[in-house]
Amino acid sequence: MPEIPEMETYKNYLQRSVLGKRIVGTEITRARSTNVPTDEFVRWVQDTSIEQVLRYGKYLILALSSGKALCAHMMLDGRMYYEVAGEPVELPGRSHIRLKFADHSILHFCDLRLGYLKLLEPSQVDAIKEGLGLDPLDAEFSLAAFLKILSGKRGMIKPLLMDQKNISGIGNAYANEILFAAGILPERKTPTLTDGEKERLYGVIPDLLQQGIAKGGYIEEPFAPWDKLSGGMIPHFKVYDRTGQPCLQCGEPIQQKIVGGRNAYYCLTCQH
Ligand SMILES: [Zn+2]
Repeated sequence: MPEIPEMETYKNYLQRSVLGKRIVGTEITRARSTNVPTDEFVRWVQDTSIEQVLRYGKYLILALSSGKALCAHMMLDGRMYYEVAGEPVELPGRSHIRLKFADHSILHFCDLRLGYLKLLEPSQVDAIKEGLGLDPLDAEFSLAAFLKILSGKRGMIKPLLMDQKNISGIGNAYANEILFAAGILPERKTPTLTDGEKERLYGVIPDLLQQGIAKGGYIEEPFAPWDKLSGGMIPHFKVYDRTGQPCLQCGEPIQQKIVGGRNAYYCLTCQH
């Protein structure tokens, strides 16, 4: 599921490609991928402009000049693709919703099986934001704030990092990488972490997410014909999806097991 680096990559690309543009056509071929009847969706989206592109956790918000907003969540399979008139089109999946612009470019929302593009009121967007924990790239994500999040938590550290109510935007891939970088096993109970481990953990979270953004995240399918960056983070993962392969630090095989309902990848030598 796309996490902060993948959604930041989308955000940056949307700001480059569709920000300020007027939507002149709206097509929905999978009604279940949105939250309102198609005619209502079209009425509020068509002939409006995209005024802002924001990211809250794993959500992208397209603020429209109509006063409403579009909220995209990609879940597991969802992908966006920006089709440019006259350029080859290689959609990353089945196009379920399309926003068409005056310059004949098209923004596709593909493979929205669990993902969606919802039409929301500003108050509903606020409610999403309020339900999320701190964003680790936000200035408010201080060591003190992080320690406060950890305090009083009794469960395992990996599910805590992925709980969107604690910290927003971290999912399975980066949680595994963060714990490897901090030298902490995913099953460690939060109260057993030493002060040094907590500080190390705090330090590596923004670093890894920033690295993910700089490398273009792990979504392999390009956003547009000109996108040469997306997926660039994949070769830099040290434990995620590397079961049985040698640890890049010590050479021992990377382990995998279910922790808190999700696949954990870790090195028994480098993590404690
Ligand atoms: Zn190792």
